[in-house]
Amino acid sequence: MSKRTTRLAPSPTGALHLGNARTFLITWAMARKLSWRLEMRIEDLDGPRVKHAAAQQALDVFAWLGIDYDGEPTYQSADLEPYRAAMHALAARGVVYRCTLSRTQIEQASAAPHRDEHELRFPSELRATDRRMFVFDEQETNYRFVVGDESITIDDEFAGRSVFRPLDEVGDFVVWTKRATPSYQLAVIVDDARQGITDVVRGDDLLSSAARQTLLYGALDLKPPKWWHLPLVVGPDGRRLAKRHGDTRLTAYQEAGVPASRIIGLLASWSGICDRPTEMTAEEFKDGLILDSLDRGQVVFRQEHHRWLLDGV
Ligand code: GLU
Repeated sequence: MSKRTTRLAPSPTGALHLGNARTFLITWAMARKLSWRLEMRIEDLDGPRVKHAAAQQALDVFAWLGIDYDGEPTYQSADLEPYRAAMHALAARGVVYRCTLSRTQIEQASAAPHRDEHELRFPSELRATDRRMFVFDEQETNYRFVVGDESITIDDEFAGRSVFRPLDEVGDFVVWTKRATPSYQLAVIVDDARQGITDVVRGDDLLSSAARQTLLYGALDLKPPKWWHLPLVVGPDGRRLAKRHGDTRLTAYQEAGVPASRIIGLLASWSGICDRPTEMTAEEFKDGLILDSLDRGQVVFRQEHHRWLLDGV
């Protein structure tokens, strides 16, 4: 059997904050503890949101924290051919179609309320019926994947079992965008498959994406990886860590003179390694990490954590 392999897949759409850092550090520590290969993949296809300096900044922050990886980083934007090939394979199976409907048109046609601003459910009544739309001719339009009426069970190594109904939750989702790039859902499975990723470790905001990705794996005759979705760090208000909770960007702490060992010490206290934040190296974090004692609940970032980091300056 080939070596188990995981990846770090930062999106250079903004600076890494403490929440992202926890997921990445745990992924790294798991890979190093369990002797998995660790790829570094920069997911830089998210069109206008990608900030060019952010990719290098992420790599510098990883180096600062002591997070290394195997081989050279790969950039999704470097070669779109594998994604096009996947689209042609999906079109040959008749499971993707051109969709020129605008967001507003979809919203107007949807009776159900939208779950959030990113997840616009596509009602199946809007699915193309003309077979001539079921081709991939690389036009500058969105292409959608035909979601079947089935339940998808995700047996997550960490989060346990969840059952999704992608048809009801998101409907036919976009796999290729009008910017002539693959969507996140398609790009991630093409890359995970070609990089031989056996284990995907990431934040549990992507748990429902695992269901869509499972459908794509199936349509391309590929085997899905094992999933490990880790709880996100949230603010005291229970919402995902973001600007509203203060500036928790790693570069901001770095510029303020906070040592990396202190960041890792805080992440260690959020990962069951120590009861209270205690300065340590990434190596010590790795040695102390016991996967079974990782809390399955969300981690709450509080102002006292921020103060503790700055006390180290
Ligand atoms: N690039 C994605 C993110 O930063 C992660 C994708 C994945 O791990 O599947 O949210």
